[in-house]
Amino acid sequence: MNVADSQVVVAILQAEGWEHTPSIEEADLILVNTCSIREHAEERIFNRLKELRKYKRARKGVLIGLIGCMAERLKETLLEREGAVDIIAGPDAYRDLPALVAAGSGVNVILSVEETYAHISPVRYDSNGVSAFVSIMRGCNNMCAYCVVPYTRGRERSRPVQTILLEVGEALAAGYKEVTLLGQNVNSYRFEDVDFAELLAMVAKMNPRLRVRFATSHPRDLSDRVLKTIAAHENICRSIHLPAQSGSTRILELMNRKYTREWYLERIAAIRRILPDASITTDLIAGFCTEATEDHEDTLSLMREVGYDFAYMFKYSERPGTAAARGMADDVSEEVKTARLTQIIDLQNILSLESNRRDVGREFEVLVEGRSKRSASRLFGRTSQNKVVVFDKGPRTRAGDYVKVKVTDCSSATLKGVLID
Ligand code: SAH
Ligand code: SF4
Repeated sequence: MNVADSQVVVAILQAEGWEHTPSIEEADLILVNTCSIREHAEERIFNRLKELRKYKRARKGVLIGLIGCMAERLKETLLEREGAVDIIAGPDAYRDLPALVAAGSGVNVILSVEETYAHISPVRYDSNGVSAFVSIMRGCNNMCAYCVVPYTRGRERSRPVQTILLEVGEALAAGYKEVTLLGQNVNSYRFEDVDFAELLAMVAKMNPRLRVRFATSHPRDLSDRVLKTIAAHENICRSIHLPAQSGSTRILELMNRKYTREWYLERIAAIRRILPDASITTDLIAGFCTEATEDHEDTLSLMREVGYDFAYMFKYSERPGTAAARGMADDVSEEVKTARLTQIIDLQNILSLESNRRDVGREFEVLVEGRSKRSASRLFGRTSQNKVVVFDKGPRTRAGDYVKVKVTDCSSATLKGVLID
């Protein structure tokens, strides 16, 4: 989401005569787009800001701005703490950046109920030319007890359909082969009478060779209608990211996730029924407030029961101002959190390897994204299930091509294969 936002920021500044440079030494303005989701993310930014001071010292007039969720969360206090920051702009204040920059300093952290940067075409300065992010909504109304997003990104709002279709059309015209529709909870997208299932179908119909992905779905809102819409369009990718957070109903209730383990498993069953070839991935949090050994065991057993293809796994990190920080003790020790997270990661590695092994011997259509980092004679791309496949490059194959690959080998992280005609 921050990648997509940074592209909007570049577009806003470019319209005012600024130019994006890949070289930081050359930059007159350095903006750091930030994340507040865990304390660790913020610590890394503070370290980065210290590093950036040297650019200010090296050349007179260089401005440094901190934008995004940390700007929203810490506001003016950042100026006191970080003398090097000139500009602070929250996620809804990017249109004000040219004015803040012109003034040489300033803070704007006003949250909006309607800003979606709807008519701004992002400048995809850092993309591979194959896959584009398209933001379809902003903010979140869910109020999960651990989560800072509703406070830093504000209320949920959906971007007008026509502007989404326009942006997808521009991406197609620029040669992109894949779009990922982005939002904190895409399944609650609604603009006038268009809901997420309809939006998905509209985007999919624009071009049958355009792959369509989306993130993220909240289990509470992932309807059979959405699943059936995916099933009806071959170019909507067979890959569902459905963050569970925990396998324990008791913990889910404390997290205010608004579903039980049973509800979640019923949604998994619906995915298996309607989209039997879909991969299923998730987010998990280890060591939320009061989490006991049995709760943790429930998470491990949920993982086994679903057989996730991939997972993002985190230790619970208390965020100031959230319901959990205000009303619950962060009472699972760091050692226990670490031990549980390790168990979760170890189990996921086994599940990922099992999932990849099931693909050995199968053929997939792969959208080529570029050269493999390890070897110039190999390319990599993704299957519809969002798995990375590495293969020896053919004489004419390049990024943006669709190729057929037979999987011959795998690790827990990647598939290896050979091109077939
Ligand atoms: N809107 C999306 C993504 C939210 S942030 C969703 O609801 O799925 C991405 C992930 O970060 C979350 O799914 C959660 O697993 C993790 N996360 C959020 N807040 C956290 C916290 N305080 N500590 C640890 N992990 C957290
Ligand atoms: Fe955070 Fe929950 Fe909203 Fe996701 S759905 S952004 S975890 S509050």
